[in-house]
Amino acid sequence: MSSQNPVFIPGPTNIPEALRRACDIPTMDHRSAAFPPLFERAKSGVKRVLKMDEGEVILFPASGTGGWEAAVTNTLSPGDKVLAARHGMFSMKWIDLCQRHGLIVEVVTCPWGEGAPVERFAEILAADTAHEIKAVLVTHNETATGVVSDVAGVRRALDAAGHPALLMVDGVSSIGSMDFRMTEWGVDLAVTGSQKGFMLPVGLAIVGVSPKALAAMEGARLSRCFFDFRDMLKLGTPYTPAVGLMNGLGAACDMLLAEGLDNVFARHHRIAEGVRKAVAGWGLRPCAVAPALYSNSVTAIVLPEGIDGNALCRHAADAYGVAFGAGLGEVAGKVFRIGHLGMLTDVLALSGIAAAEMAMADMGAPVTLGSGVAAAQDYYRTNKAAPVKAAA
Ligand SMILES: *Cc1c(COP(=O)(O)O)cnc(C)c1O
Repeated sequence: MSSQNPVFIPGPTNIPEALRRACDIPTMDHRSAAFPPLFERAKSGVKRVLKMDEGEVILFPASGTGGWEAAVTNTLSPGDKVLAARHGMFSMKWIDLCQRHGLIVEVVTCPWGEGAPVERFAEILAADTAHEIKAVLVTHNETATGVVSDVAGVRRALDAAGHPALLMVDGVSSIGSMDFRMTEWGVDLAVTGSQKGFMLPVGLAIVGVSPKALAAMEGARLSRCFFDFRDMLKLGTPYTPAVGLMNGLGAACDMLLAEGLDNVFARHHRIAEGVRKAVAGWGLRPCAVAPALYSNSVTAIVLPEGIDGNALCRHAADAYGVAFGAGLGEVAGKVFRIGHLGMLTDVLALSGIAAAEMAMADMGAPVTLGSGVAAAQDYYRTNKAAPVKAAA
């Protein structure tokens, strides 16, 4: 019966029953007249979730990593310089991908737990008067550490320097759960995947592309074939599209928009805040070094000395059938992560907090049973959720 438990990993997320059903459709001829409305519904829904007033939404079969690769290869050329910060596993892997494609990455190394260094970026961009930097990469929500970065601040740094570099944002674990403003923030490429904030099975890469990025595409010389946006824009789907997932994506956008994006973001904030109260109740602290950096989609929790995060996650899975996120890279073993993105309610969050508490106590952590649960209960009782609508 452990498959009845929700997961608390920061993606893939729990899937609402209505979305599971929306993905489960009979085979459709994607060259028939039935497909375009389904495709357009998904794309127009994503535009609204990304807050895009202009540009294109690109959907293709891949995961978020394929979205990274597509964003980079469609807009840059071998030897181009890009600016990026390394402050967690995902920002690190995106840098590695760029390097493997022959880009020169100016890496700003930051401690894990910090966000993208906006002031340092501003200095580097201001000094780059020759405009050698062709793109700035920002991981909006660093899923390894539970840190949110200031994308609008990076846009201000670019504008203050009068710098024309493209702004590429990994929004894989933020979009759909935390506020994202593609047009207002001047984001040129926004990357996500179906299995995080959109609450679907993995399999679709979702990329928002600004008019400026579309223009950059024409001169970009990195090689691409499967990922070539020009084919996708010309043909709609140059190869067999993931029709079921696209149908699910249309339904997911409708679900988010029916709740209201502001309500969705408020829900994630409230749930995350309850998790953070629990962490404080345990006498522990988040890996994110300052409250302004706290992610509303995942909390990485620093464990007491002597408690191994990997062993803790294994134990939670074996003993209680519950999945938490293990620490990655530099913080492997030192943290464990509670994912709270996608489909989640106060009640589900409380079950995760309670299970984490049991697992930590079993492992010998100095955590009093009930301490985190009570702190979260207290917060949820006094900061009530919007009335719950019956699930479709
Ligand atoms: C999950 C994740 C990715 C990788 O996405 P995949 O779908 O696993 O390829 C990239 N960036 C961030 C921030 C993520 O959370």
